[in-house]
Amino acid sequence: MQSYSFFMPTRVIHGERELVNQAGLLKQLGNRCLLVTGRTSARVSGALDDAVEALTSQGIDYELFDQVENNPSLENVDAGGEAARRYKPDFILGIGGGSPLDASKAIAVLAVNDMEPEELYRNEFANQPLPIAAIPTTAGTGSEVTPYSVLTDPAAETKRSFSVPEVFPKIAFLDWRYTAKLPVTITRDTALDALSHLVEGYLSRRATGTSDIFAQQGIELWAECLKSLQEGAFAPEDRDRLLVASALGGITIAHTGTTLVHALGYSLTYYHDLPHGRANGLLMGEYLRYNAEYVPQRVANVLAWLGFEDVEEFAQVMGELAGPMVELSSEQIKDYAAKAAATRNAAYSQGEATEEVLQRMLGDA
Ligand code: NAP
Ligand code: FE
Repeated sequence: MQSYSFFMPTRVIHGERELVNQAGLLKQLGNRCLLVTGRTSARVSGALDDAVEALTSQGIDYELFDQVENNPSLENVDAGGEAARRYKPDFILGIGGGSPLDASKAIAVLAVNDMEPEELYRNEFANQPLPIAAIPTTAGTGSEVTPYSVLTDPAAETKRSFSVPEVFPKIAFLDWRYTAKLPVTITRDTALDALSHLVEGYLSRRATGTSDIFAQQGIELWAECLKSLQEGAFAPEDRDRLLVASALGGITIAHTGTTLVHALGYSLTYYHDLPHGRANGLLMGEYLRYNAEYVPQRVANVLAWLGFEDVEEFAQVMGELAGPMVELSSEQIKDYAAKAAATRNAAYSQGEATEEVLQRMLGDA
């Protein structure tokens, strides 16, 4: 009999304008707030305006750190940590895609700990991180309901995550309106990230009876948006479904972790500047083909939930949504496969994710 635990400490609030309607919840986190955002997305999405209205209605003081980069680096979050140490907030309100939300988690730690940003990866901190509220403006990472913060580490030439249960956001506000203005390409890329979390979580060695329920529900919701993703036109219902599917993916990987798609995808982002979700999407077809050897029933379930006949059809649609694969030299393929094989993510995959297996996945993708 499998033993496992289920832990999801984030209060998830779903609905339009609930950030403003339920602003009293923010007051429970304190009287001073550092808003952490990217350069434009929080403003463009309308979420920053709602956040300011919510904070003001509760008499909460705030300051804005709006310098988070895509795929934030250790140096970038260190600058946010410094802003936080100066302002001394009681809590962090992160608004944006996965980049600002992950940066919020790092800043919540650095705000109250005198340490080098590299030390985040130790996952042990003298002082508990500040509480975090999170507002996603993309539908992909599920970072609003995970304890992970993925940061770019130039010394290791890759992206690595730190994770402690205390950086699970205390509250996540899911409001599809904040994703309404996402360009089609970012919508597709981030939707591929959400799907990769759901599928990798379902096919992970660490999948549990409980995580499976979230993965299945998320994959079925995602499937309802497939036509819109292919056509590039999104009704509010599609935006909402994608946002919920993304959060279900986050809840799934909070328990299972990700597997070899993410392990390999990090190199495509680090060395070739591919957006995170697109990098995953490019690898998904081969990944499902690989898993069919080890867990054929699970792969058949994924295909059935998505409404696909077989792995070939799945691979073709992933290719359509992600676009062309980057050209890789044989040196690069060897290097990225070796890096990925050494990760924990690879160890959570079915079968044996050896360097040869990973090379094939990159070469044939
Ligand atoms: P992102 O890097 O946060 O944002 C990508 C782009 O989309 C940025 O240019 C951003 O603008 C823009 N954008 C965001 N919301 C927008 C909106 N509503 N309207 C218009 N533009 C908008 O992308 P992401 O895919 O959401 O996050 C990727 C990061 O999350 C990666 O670092 C990845 O490794 C990480 N991740 C974390 C987890 C986890 O569990 N924590 C899981 C998977 C991935 P701005 O620059 O202005 O913000
Ligand atoms: Fe991801």
